[in-house]
Amino acid sequence: MKTWVEISGQRLAANYRLLAATAGAETTVFAVVKADAYGHGVDLCAPVLSAAGAGWLGVTDPDEGMAVRAALQNSGIEQPRVLVMSEMLDEEADEMVEHHLTPVVSNIRQMESLARAAGQRPSSPFPIHLEIDTGMARQGVPVGDALDTVLRWLSSQSVIRLEGMMTHFASAEIAGSHQTSAQRRLFEQTIHQIHSAGLQPAWIHAGNSSTVDNPAGEPLHWLEQLARSLNARAMVRTGLALYGYSLPVEREQDYAGDAQSLVQPGLEPVMTWKARVTGVREVEAGTRIGYNGTFTAQRHMRLALLPVGYADGLRRELSSTNGRAGGWVLFGQARAPIVGRVSMNLTIVDITGLPAVAVGDEAVLLGEGITAEDHAHLAGTIAYEILCGVRAVRCLR
Ligand SMILES: *Cc1c(COP(=O)(O)O)cnc(C)c1O
Repeated sequence: MKTWVEISGQRLAANYRLLAATAGAETTVFAVVKADAYGHGVDLCAPVLSAAGAGWLGVTDPDEGMAVRAALQNSGIEQPRVLVMSEMLDEEADEMVEHHLTPVVSNIRQMESLARAAGQRPSSPFPIHLEIDTGMARQGVPVGDALDTVLRWLSSQSVIRLEGMMTHFASAEIAGSHQTSAQRRLFEQTIHQIHSAGLQPAWIHAGNSSTVDNPAGEPLHWLEQLARSLNARAMVRTGLALYGYSLPVEREQDYAGDAQSLVQPGLEPVMTWKARVTGVREVEAGTRIGYNGTFTAQRHMRLALLPVGYADGLRRELSSTNGRAGGWVLFGQARAPIVGRVSMNLTIVDITGLPAVAVGDEAVLLGEGITAEDHAHLAGTIAYEILCGVRAVRCLR
């Protein structure tokens, strides 16, 4: 193979256990494996996470849910619950029911489609999770009359069962966030509405990796108490941290309390992306390198060619000019800077100081010593987008 991604099952399981220990015994850690496990491969990650104890996995659509089911078939590991987190289309109702996927719903139309699909099977009431829009304006039913109507619909029938209530925080990485406080207050209101509708969800969930990583304002304690008041169990949905990364904790302006990142220091990157050198050449001073010659050799240079580029997810923003340093790759501990433009499937790196590097040698593009955050910083984005963008054959190591 010329380029590939190594996934450390050990690290993935260790990150999961660290999150579970930090969240505490009263809160269940839900493992998000959407976007092909953030680019790590759902086929590899779902069995590892399930074996490590994750009873709930989160995906985007029924196809991803079926990929989880397929990955665990014949594995000897018990099938986890699978929550389909993006709003469903009516035509997805049959697949949800057939594959025992649990949809997130926010309106009566969706529940009616599910009731039609579930009604044709003699299964027990079909479980759904209801998302509450507490202030992100993305998904979910708004708190208030709309929620009342949905809850009344739910209590008036017996085919669909309200198993979970959830919301999502827009600013979970900000310690002392006013936005999170406002969202929390609105979510609390839903609890009164559930009480008056006489419904009994078993799960109450909110937040993401940052909700575990950033304990300021105690969102986890709050969630636990809220769940307890309903005789339900609390759950927090983690994605990024499972794969070894977390957003830096920020502070609200007027916040003076603790803003220490809790899990970040213990997380280890799960993905290592490698490529083999396919060519080595020497160039004289004055040689222009790569598209548009944006980099001119200032001295005699030794260059290595790597068979990866932006089509594989190696961001073009890692390109360099003589005036602007770009990204780098690693040969062992040694850095080899990217020179000139990253092409679609090819990248040139400077190995002038590394005389031992030869055709066939392994370069690390991402992983040990060079992180998705490094790439994100250069590309003006976040680690999430870098990880999701990596396209290479993946293997478990
Ligand atoms: C993606 C997602 C998460 C996980 O977020 P991370 O920041 O990766 O931990 C949690 N909840 C919902 C609804 C999501 O869409």
